[in-house]
Amino acid sequence: MSGGPDAIVLGTVTDRMRARLDEKFTVHAVGTDSVPEALLGASYICCGQGGASVRADLIDAMPELKIISNFGVGYDNVDAAHAASKGVVVSHTPDVLNDEVANTAILLMLASARNFRHDEDWARSGTWEKQGAAPLSRSVKGATVGILGLGRIGEALAEKLGVFGVTVVYHNRSEKPVPYTYYGDLVEMARDADILISVAPGGASTHHIVNAEVLKALGPDGLLVNVGRGSVVDETALVAALSSGTLGAAALDVFEHEPKIPDALKTMDNVVLLPHVGSATVETRAAMGDLVVDNLIAMLETGKARTPVPECRDI
Ligand code: NDP
Repeated sequence: MSGGPDAIVLGTVTDRMRARLDEKFTVHAVGTDSVPEALLGASYICCGQGGASVRADLIDAMPELKIISNFGVGYDNVDAAHAASKGVVVSHTPDVLNDEVANTAILLMLASARNFRHDEDWARSGTWEKQGAAPLSRSVKGATVGILGLGRIGEALAEKLGVFGVTVVYHNRSEKPVPYTYYGDLVEMARDADILISVAPGGASTHHIVNAEVLKALGPDGLLVNVGRGSVVDETALVAALSSGTLGAAALDVFEHEPKIPDALKTMDNVVLLPHVGSATVETRAAMGDLVVDNLIAMLETGKARTPVPECRDI
């Protein structure tokens, strides 16, 4: 311990993060979502991996709090609006994970369309020897891919999709100066798309915007990929649409009640499932961890975070 100011670590941090924090702060890894009373005077919170959340009551209970440095670009686990109203900066880890999450979306899209999960099983189980060639899958070439949430990750994804011979369209709340067709209406985009990839953030404004109507519009040959947040998709409607054939297939990295995945999804042949690993490579997690610590050190040394969330940019 350095003898520097107290820093509370919620959740877990890597050894590298811990070593860098120890150089500047007196670190208290409290492990849970609550801070012991004796530490409520701390000014620095490091929100590590493992779903730590910081809500309004904790922010109110810490009068000297300056920064909540969040591991991840999505920060629906932190009440950022409340923090901003109290002059507390919330920071996150944008950009360093764009490529990895975009790659994950493409992996999911191809795994589903090309039937990789089944085909791998076909090869591994010896079915190929017993029954011959595996059934044909589908090409994505020529497909229209609708991106819901054309932000930092969405734009990286759109660029990568360029090599697959697909047409990229997108839906945000507002149009951007990009070379892709904009849809102001999500249902309309889903109707025109063969594949809908959600990279939208969580929170109230996106809650269940991928609903039964959107899934129906995507249709019986349509594919839903979700690498954004589970709360964006109405999971009950998704299970119903997949069971009835209203929707063709789904490939999902994120879920409404993680780490719980609806049992029905686990049994479906037309579903590919991942355990929220969009950014989970050694390299990208190291870059994210560095940025989490950089933000804390920048606040300590300059009074400003390096990458504050939009709500906190004017603090
Ligand atoms: P950005 O803020 O750069 O992009 C988000 C995009 O979503 C913006 O273009 C925004 O456009 C759009 N959007 C926001 N709200 C709505 C809405 N209500 N309706 C329609 N569009 C909306 O974020 P990033 O690209 O950096 O990250 C996106 C999300 O990806 C994160 O918030 C996180 O949840 C998720 N993520 C998942 C990971 C994983 O492991 N699976 C890893 C990293 C991130 P506009 O404001 O014009 O609406």
